This record gives sequence, structure tokens and C-alpha cells, in this order.
Amino acid sequence: MKHAARKAFTLLLGGLILGMSPLVENLAAGEEVNVYSYRKPQLMQPLFDTFTADTGISVNVVFAKKGMLEKLSSEGANSPADLVFTVDIGRLSDIRNAGLTQKVQSDVLDSNIPENMRDPDHHWYGLTSRARIIVVSRDRVQDGEVMRYEDLADPRLKGRICTRSGKHPYMVALTASMIAHLGVEEAERWLAGLKSNLARTPEGNDRSQVKAIREGVCDIAVINHYYMYKMIVDPEQKLWADAVKVVFPNQPDRGTHMNISGMAMTKHAPNRENALRLMEFLSTARAQEMYAQVNGEYAVKPGIPLADPVQAWGEFKRDDLGLIDVANNRAEGSKIADRVAYNE
Ligand code: FE
Repeated sequence: MKHAARKAFTLLLGGLILGMSPLVENLAAGEEVNVYSYRKPQLMQPLFDTFTADTGISVNVVFAKKGMLEKLSSEGANSPADLVFTVDIGRLSDIRNAGLTQKVQSDVLDSNIPENMRDPDHHWYGLTSRARIIVVSRDRVQDGEVMRYEDLADPRLKGRICTRSGKHPYMVALTASMIAHLGVEEAERWLAGLKSNLARTPEGNDRSQVKAIREGVCDIAVINHYYMYKMIVDPEQKLWADAVKVVFPNQPDRGTHMNISGMAMTKHAPNRENALRLMEFLSTARAQEMYAQVNGEYAVKPGIPLADPVQAWGEFKRDDLGLIDVANNRAEGSKIADRVAYNE
């Protein structure tokens, strides 16, 4: 509770300095909102602190690495949680499909967040977006040699590709987007082709695929774009990032597959009004810029400045497929990975 006390004190001080009496009133009333977050404290805490400084509403956060869905369902109507934050459309839609979220009506959210990045039924909202890019060896892959996800299944790339598990949510979402665009049969042919081009059995996370390119294990990998940012700013991993070029896939046609991190209001949220205020705050330009920059992600609200070097990679065509369509094809995407024995 030390932390909370310190925070309250800071707020009070901030309020006195700024002469903002509503802030002090809010504190006295014990205004708060409770959050369960899979997203890390270093990403979220600055945003929550800013929200608290603006509104006087305290944000109590439980950061977790797993088990959120189970925790919410076992707590049921007694859950203290108002909002959940997580990455990946898969995790958002799992929580929604388990009946653990509620509908939100907000013109602010609807105007700040593009339609394809929120649930048509208003249960979940994207807050940042991430491109699933292709990275290729600077030395061993020519410009233009790999330009589309479809190229990854071309036999000319045999033995040259590394990816993480085909069952990981990021890969399943990509496969789901292929199903949405090409149909199940064609998507299955694609994943089988990609599998037969792998240099090794899938292992590790996105960054370790780039490391493998640096080490000459493979020439081509599929990763989320912000891992390039993270490697570039890490003295040890910068060598890995320096070994590859960024390709935004499918520029001449439908654009690059995008995923989101996002939020949802819990079904039994005890502090609905405050929760909605926090949701709306996070969709504003100010919060979007903070959020996107700290992790090298893209804001969902258009026109927000990005972190370098993400900004330097420039504009690209994004696949504007609804994330709901990705969500709806996930189960089939995961089955396809099993059918083509992707991880074996
Ligand atoms: Fe990630």
C-alpha cells in the first residue's frame, strides 16, 4: 500500500499546486478503477499515472503473465476488475467469447478507433496495432525477392525460412487472415508450403528468428514489427536487427496483416463510469502517442507520431480486414497448423 499512499500524496500535491479542487474531491470520494493487465507495467503505468493526474481517479492494477480468463471466470460477479488489457485479438476474443465482458457505448471510442480495430458488438477495442512483417537477410536476399506472404510458400525458398510455433497466437492470427482472404483450402496449401520451406522445426520467439538469420541458420523470418524496434534499442540484440531488412508484405495488393493490443470492460465492472473514462482517455491523441512510442507500436488513432525507427520505415499499406474476421477464423487457423503438422 506504500505505493498507493505515495501516489495519492503525489496527486494531492499535484492538485494543490495546480489549484485543481475537483481532483482533491475525487480523491476524497475514493474514485478508482481496477485493471487486470497482461501488458507490462513499464508500458501501462505512465498512462495510468497521467490519467490519474488528470482526473483524480486512482488506477489499481494487477499485472499478470497468464491466467486472466480463469481468474475472471472464477471470481464471477465478485470480481473487482473493471477493465482488462491484453495483446492479440485472440486473447481479447477468448475473454469476450467466455462471456466475461460487456458492451460499451462511446462516441469518443468510436471516433478515435477505426472500425476494423474494434468489436462490431462494442465488447473490445484496439489500442495499439502491430504489423506482422517479413524480415530478410541483408546479405543473402535480394530486394524484391520476397514481397508477399504468399511468397513464403514458394518452393524457391526451400530451407530458407524460420518462424516461431505455428500455434502461437501471432502466427494463428496471420493464418486466420489468410483464410479470410483466400479461403480455408488455399490457406492450408499456403501454410503447408511455408512449412516445407522452413530451415528448422519452429522454436523460440520472434526475436530468436532474427538471431537465427544473423547466425546463418535461415534467410527469412516472420515477426511482429516492434521486435525490430526492441532489438535496435538493445545493445546486444542490435547486431541481430542489423543483419536484416524490413519488408512490409503485400504492398501491391491487400496490405500487411495487422494485429492489435486492446481492452475490454468486464461483465461485472463495479466502477463502470470510471472505467469508461479510462478507456476514452487511452484512445485520445495524447495517450495514443505515449502508448505507441514506448513500445514501438502503431497507434490505432490515425495521424499519431511514431517512435524512431518505426517512423523512418515510412507509411505502408495495411490490411484493413476487420480484426473480428481474424478472430472468427482463429479456430480454423489453429486446426490448419495441426493438419499440416507445422511444428513437427
Ligand atoms: Fe509480442
